[in-house]
Amino acid sequence: MKAVDIKKICVVGAGNMGHQISMLAAVHGYLVGCADSSPGQLKNAEDFVDKYLPGRITKGRLSEKQAEVIRKNLYFTTSLDEAAGDADFVIEAATEKLDLKKAIFKKLDQIAPRHAVLATNSSFLVSSLLADATNRPEKVCNMHFFNPALAMKCVEVVRGPHTSEETAQVTMELARNLGKEPVLLNKEIYGFLVNRILAAICDEALFLSETGVASPEDIDSAVTNALGHPLGPFRLMDLTGIDLSYHITMEKYQASGRPEDKPSPTIVEKYVRGEWGQKTGKGFYDYRE
Ligand code: NAD
Repeated sequence: MKAVDIKKICVVGAGNMGHQISMLAAVHGYLVGCADSSPGQLKNAEDFVDKYLPGRITKGRLSEKQAEVIRKNLYFTTSLDEAAGDADFVIEAATEKLDLKKAIFKKLDQIAPRHAVLATNSSFLVSSLLADATNRPEKVCNMHFFNPALAMKCVEVVRGPHTSEETAQVTMELARNLGKEPVLLNKEIYGFLVNRILAAICDEALFLSETGVASPEDIDSAVTNALGHPLGPFRLMDLTGIDLSYHITMEKYQASGRPEDKPSPTIVEKYVRGEWGQKTGKGFYDYRE
């Protein structure tokens, strides 16, 4: 399959990432079926689309006619069969839990057309953990978008030992067709490129705050003003979700068993308290006003 043969994209999950990836694909001319098991999440995603498109018209980025076509080409459903049954490319963006993703890949393999690529947007799980759940391991890879997916240019495409050259190239080309600047990782490595670098920064920021060297506000200020990052590590953790930081660190710890891979005390405390960042109104910063 070539990237030009991709007409329909299925996105699994309509959460933080899935709703934006769906919108992105529809804006770039694809027919998109987005499936989520939660009707509430699907409703939020539809509400987002119904605000986003008029906003683009107001800004002069889309004509009314274009917005109408995009809206028609994008649908949300609780039925994975409906969304994936005729898809040429699937982007899985469901909750970051290995067993859940394995079950989704097993089902996708049964219902998606034989030519379809099955890509995961997972932040940390390499696709060789999922490829075995399918009978098409050569068509399985990571396609990792960044948050917010509509705006962030980078996409990491990661090929495992099972991934064919064709799948890697089609996925790179699709990312370019979605207006992104993809990078290709020729080897699987935990955290890929960007999150490895980011995790090192966040771990150091948490260490500096926990040991009383400086406040989260001052650490964020130093990182933005000295290093030129658009957001400091604490603001960023609030944006991406402290629950996500907790889950991915726990997965890493459970896999390695090394005490130094445990989530930091601050992350555990915030996770238990439900202070997960912007999505719950409070994280390192307060968003309730
Ligand atoms: P989220 O919790 O906002 O959304 C996950 C969605 O998956 C939810 O809507 C949930 O209802 C749905 N879901 C759960 N089980 C399902 C099933 N069986 N079938 C269909 N849908 C199901 O999570 P998110 O932040 O959007 O993360 C999704 C994926 O994207 C994760 O793998 C994460 O690692 C990755 N990711 C997240 C970010 C980020 O900044 N949040 C960035 C890049 C990648």
